Parts: sequence; structure tokens; C-alpha cells
Amino acid sequence: MKLEILSRSEKRISFLIDGIDTELANAMRRIILTEVPAMAIDDVVFIENSTPLFDEIIAHRLGLVPLTTDLDSFVLKERCSCEGIGCARCQVAFQCSIQAENGKRNVYTSDIISIDPKIKPVNDKILITKMAKGSKLIFEAYARLGLGKDHAKWQPVSKITYKMYPEIRIDQEKLDDFEFKGDNENDPIVNACPPKILKWEKGNLTVTDEKKCTLCGACVRSEITPKGAIDVRPVKNKFIFFLETPGVMKPERLVLEGLKIFKEKVKRFGTLVKELSEKLEQQEDHE
Ligand SMILES: [Zn+2]
Repeated sequence: MKLEILSRSEKRISFLIDGIDTELANAMRRIILTEVPAMAIDDVVFIENSTPLFDEIIAHRLGLVPLTTDLDSFVLKERCSCEGIGCARCQVAFQCSIQAENGKRNVYTSDIISIDPKIKPVNDKILITKMAKGSKLIFEAYARLGLGKDHAKWQPVSKITYKMYPEIRIDQEKLDDFEFKGDNENDPIVNACPPKILKWEKGNLTVTDEKKCTLCGACVRSEITPKGAIDVRPVKNKFIFFLETPGVMKPERLVLEGLKIFKEKVKRFGTLVKELSEKLEQQEDHE
């Protein structure tokens, strides 16, 4: 298997994997999407709320606020030694106490104060509610780790996709008598390509960046394209992944956590198969 990072930033990563099949690529995508834990508010205790929004709506909005996640310091509540009661290893408390004394005001995520500076909203400017003069909003909220398969608020990614690696073959000989040869501006084939990666250069039709090809086949299907001049097909077992997070953790960490979970799953599956085959052998011995 070969892995190459194509681009990387604070919230995004794109990488190329060569040597895995579609099933494995999709398993990786689904594990990162639904099984890598992330922090989200899951419990809100309202002490006072005279804003225009009901408690339930504010609680729902708080749950959807992406929080920075620290997988080294926290564990899932159900796997914590406190047995789900809630302790410093499995939950974080937030407090909010606002009185709109001087006139109407907005409540933003910056108004929710976390007791652990490592766990906080990824953005300070998410609007929670508006308040009229004299109204109050006082609550305590508790965040915990959870899984995207239980609720989308725990999804650590805002996007994770892959596409098959495109291969574009151009037969220059078949384009010898082509009407628009060398005319980048008016060539319908060049213009038919949505990511605009075809270009005439020194009399040859060339591909500027094949990784950007979406495999749409518009260049092949175009009525004007000489038969067999362009061939676009996906390369088997080669994929380009795109991953974007709202900022809950570093994208490369997400990939590594996903692989760790995948490895544990395979190990568990192996153990279960072994146990089952031993059971069957014992049954056969008795018979
Ligand atoms: Zn605990």
C-alpha cells in the first residue's frame, strides 16, 4: 500500500491511497465518520430562561456546537471507571449566566464558559439566541464524548469522501485532423471539461492535473470528439480521499484514530471467529 498526502491545512486533508480495494476505502470512510469519538454537549440544566427560545431549542442548538476534542484526556462515558455517573475523565461542564440589563443583546458561543480550557467551542461567534432587555439566561451544560453513529452532533468531520483515481489516455494521432486543434479558447472538448484540465500545448491535447478529473466523461461523450481519441477510466484500487473537520481535532489525527479503530475491529473479529470454531470443535467431539 502506498500513501501520499496531496494537501494539508488546519481543517482539511487530502491524500492518495494506492493498493486497497473499494470495500476497505469505504470502511475507512465510515469508521472516521461514525466511530471516531468527538465532544458535544449532551445535557443542559436550565436555571432561568426568559429568552424567546424554549429550553429544548437552546439545548438542541448547544448540542450542535462543535467543540475542540482531546482524545488523550477523555474517555467515552460508558467506558469510564465512574461507570457512567460522570467525572473529570468523561465529561466537561459549561456555565452560562447572562442578564440583558442594558438592552437587547445576542448570546454567542463565547458566552458559554468551559471549566476545562482544552474543551471549548471551535468558534466564538455561533449565535445561540437573542435576548430582550431585562431577560435572563442561566444554565449549566455537560459535554461528553460520543459517536457519530448515535447522533450526528458527535460526527468529528463535516465531510469525508473518496473518489477513484482517474486515468486519462489521449491518442494524439486521432486528433490530427481535428477542427479545433490547438484552439484552447473555442475547442468544445476543452470547454466541455467541468474542472478545465484539458489544454492544447504545442499541438498536443494535454492534461494539466489528472487528479482534478471527476470521471464525468464529458470529453469522451462530446459529439465532436473523434472516436477513441480520449479514454477516461478509474484506476483499480487507487483512491483520493478528502476530509474536512469543523475544527474538533487535527485532520491527520482523525485518520490515525480511524485506522486504530479499524485495527481493533479486525482483531476482535479474529478472536470471535476463533472462539466460534473452538466451540464447534467441542460440539463435534461430544457427538
Ligand atoms: Zn467518568
